[in-house]
Amino acid sequence: MQIANNILETIGNTPLVKLNKITSAIPATVLAKVETFNPGNSIKDRMALKMIEEAEKSGELKPGGTIIEGTSGNTGMGLAIAAVIKGYKCIFTSTDKQSKEKFDALRALGAEVIVCPTDVDPEDPRSYYSVSSRLAKEVPNAWKPNQYDNLANSQAHYESTGPEIWEQTEGKITHLVVGVGTGGTICGTGKYLKEKNPNIKLIGIDSYGSIFKKYHETGVFDKSEIYPYVTEGIGEDFLPKNVDFSLIDHFEKVTDKDAALYTRKIALDEGIFVGNSAGAAIAGLLQVKDMFKPDDVVVVIFHDHGIRYMGKMFNPAWMQKMGYLPTEGLTAADLIQA
Ligand code: PMP
Repeated sequence: MQIANNILETIGNTPLVKLNKITSAIPATVLAKVETFNPGNSIKDRMALKMIEEAEKSGELKPGGTIIEGTSGNTGMGLAIAAVIKGYKCIFTSTDKQSKEKFDALRALGAEVIVCPTDVDPEDPRSYYSVSSRLAKEVPNAWKPNQYDNLANSQAHYESTGPEIWEQTEGKITHLVVGVGTGGTICGTGKYLKEKNPNIKLIGIDSYGSIFKKYHETGVFDKSEIYPYVTEGIGEDFLPKNVDFSLIDHFEKVTDKDAALYTRKIALDEGIFVGNSAGAAIAGLLQVKDMFKPDDVVVVIFHDHGIRYMGKMFNPAWMQKMGYLPTEGLTAADLIQA
């Protein structure tokens, strides 16, 4: 029988799909690693399971324990699914800028979600980092994965995402384009690929309002780079341990508006219904299109599913309120092209 013994065995082995229209201005083959095929509809299932398995091995996570994490939803989803199968409880903290749909999905899998303010320093006791750290101390038998600094995160991608892409492209990949949040995806996947072929280039997609690009280029932690932004899942206001800056060849910053518009355009051009960081990745890729030659094979990661953004990027009224689409005189087709 061809069965999975439980849902966790279906994580990974996601398809690599050629993009035929949205990247036609790029003189190279562009392939999307569509991570929505994971059971939690995002790439983060891979690292969530790996972090849990490592914590079980080290004894940090004990039977019946409570997993406490600051997560924007996708990591939480991966953790929550694994927790159901393995018998753990979950408490997640997140920020009020995240889509409500993400919180509801976590609650559907039995997790408790605490929503914290976005526009406070990480050190502020109200921040989602601080609240999760405090709860991890207060709640008995608690374990905090800390996806930012836990190197099991990158390791998951070193062991699964990297080898999958290498095999799926038969070693022909020349560039990897990835939205960077914790850094686990780009650095784990990229480390594996660069070990196979050191000429492969890693392009990190960053958001305006995030520290990554400036820090990568200057080595200076310039606080003036940090301000609130709308794009979800990528960019940070601190330096996670999972970001190994020496592995990344180039960072490209993308505006909130472009990330939102391209999120919509991927669905309409390719029939691939994915989230906001995929839109950012495509927008960033188009910004650097002159970098590529016809023989190049570019792989771009589509981290998560579009359904989580129904209240935002896929809601024309929200797009108009944000000033990303004009408010008057639009046909359905105009809504996309604007
Ligand atoms: N896109 C989305 C939708 C995410 O949830 C995340 C994780 N924050 C990322 C991109 C970035 O991935 P990573 O944390 O592995 O850098």
